[in-house]
Amino acid sequence: YVKTDFILAAIDAVNSAILSHEADIEGLDRDIGDGDHYINIKRGCAAAAAMRPELENLTPDAALQKIGMKLLSSIGGASGPLVASFFLEMAKAIKLKQPVSLADHAELFATGVAGIQHRGKAQVGEKTMMDVLIPVSALFTQLASTHAEIDADILNAIKAEAEKGMLATRDMLATKGRAAGLGERAIGHIDPGAKSCQVMIHAVCDMLL
Ligand code: ADP
Ligand code: MG
Ligand code: MG
Repeated sequence: YVKTDFILAAIDAVNSAILSHEADIEGLDRDIGDGDHYINIKRGCAAAAAMRPELENLTPDAALQKIGMKLLSSIGGASGPLVASFFLEMAKAIKLKQPVSLADHAELFATGVAGIQHRGKAQVGEKTMMDVLIPVSALFTQLASTHAEIDADILNAIKAEAEKGMLATRDMLATKGRAAGLGERAIGHIDPGAKSCQVMIHAVCDMLL
């Protein structure tokens, strides 16, 4: 089962990982965006972490719902509604069906990713956070179909996939988001949202390792 304690611990882990990647995330959005991605994500993480007292005694679906609403109002930019929909879609799904097996958890993650994709309409290859999230979700689903429990091999494979997806954005043209206006100029730069997603995924995996 997804427990509220797990959600809160994951938020704390993500919050501190983001804080320790200020320079790279900020630099990337300065290269091919408007320079605010680190600030946007940091604000969202801080707001979510500060909610701990009011979330502690909630069911996981209610906690995810509250976090999603808070992120919607605190992050701003293109990434705010996208990150928020990850939480809001998982809140809805978890209310209907509590995940039990590893496959259920992979399905829940995929539901969150589909929520982002529904909102942002970006596919793999468009130089966005989806270049990390979609392959990671696909790999998680695949591994969960052959493993009963999460283990270090799975977590390390997921980390490697996130890293690969993030690095792959370097040579892409951007066709969604702010960098889409840059054309060839965006080539050679990693997408800031792909980088912050990779950092977040690594933080949660490291917490479980
Ligand atoms: P803004 O571009 O409004 O300043 P941020 O800097 O916070 O917002 O976020 C930029 C990131 O949002 C990009 O690096 C990209 O990963 C992500 N992004 C932008 N548009 C989309 C989209 N349509 N789908 C998925 N991710 C997107
Ligand atoms: Mg920006
Ligand atoms: Mg902006």
